[in-house]
Amino acid sequence: MPLEDDDAVVLQRLDYSESSQVLVFFTRRHGKVRAIAKGVKRSTKKRFAVGIDLLELGHLVFSIRTPRQSALAILTEWKPGRPLGGLRSRLDRLYAAQYAVETTAALTEDWDPHQRLYDVLVDVLSSLAAADEVSSHVARFQCALLREIGSWPYLQACVSCGCTPQVDHPVWFSSNEGGLLCRDCEGSRIEKRQISPEVLAVLGGEGAGEGATPAAVSLLDYHITHVMGRPPKVSQALTQLLSTTG
Ligand SMILES: [Zn+2]
Repeated sequence: MPLEDDDAVVLQRLDYSESSQVLVFFTRRHGKVRAIAKGVKRSTKKRFAVGIDLLELGHLVFSIRTPRQSALAILTEWKPGRPLGGLRSRLDRLYAAQYAVETTAALTEDWDPHQRLYDVLVDVLSSLAAADEVSSHVARFQCALLREIGSWPYLQACVSCGCTPQVDHPVWFSSNEGGLLCRDCEGSRIEKRQISPEVLAVLGGEGAGEGATPAAVSLLDYHITHVMGRPPKVSQALTQLLSTTG
């Protein structure tokens, strides 16, 4: 079997047998890769000096049978990269990082490369490791993820009637509708929530998440929850923590 290599982030770790683990990596060029690490839990094995951690950056070498879509890759080498120990020194950073890897794992397909998203994920994790203010990094990731998977909502006008949001008029957001609803159109929709002018200002332009507040993170999380079909596991803990710490 030919060997391939790539840069990667460890998204998930699943127990497989007494001595082996299945690791889910998000790689730069191959997208999401599931690989079995044989002997990773034994202290005497030679190839992996220590266990492989969640949220770790590194470089992996793996082999894969064809058709690869249906097969588990075999991890032959893992070289840890830049350590991101700062992620574990504060709970808000850790939750934010866990949120990013969980949503990446849930919303991307195996062997479907998303280089731009990979680069944003690595940059966001690196920034979070030293961040004082966490919300803008989370929002930057949420925006990149939604754009990359084609689920970015339309925020320039009401998706139903096409009118532009008026200053001082309340505006709603609907995930099912994929964007804004004006006051005339919101009444007939059940799934919706009000969006504040501040959040709309942050997300309405380029929508890259710069200057985002906890309220913007919360709105994007609401939409991501709909797209995923369930809330991310750390969603509640993260949004609560962000709204109390700013
Ligand atoms: Zn309308």
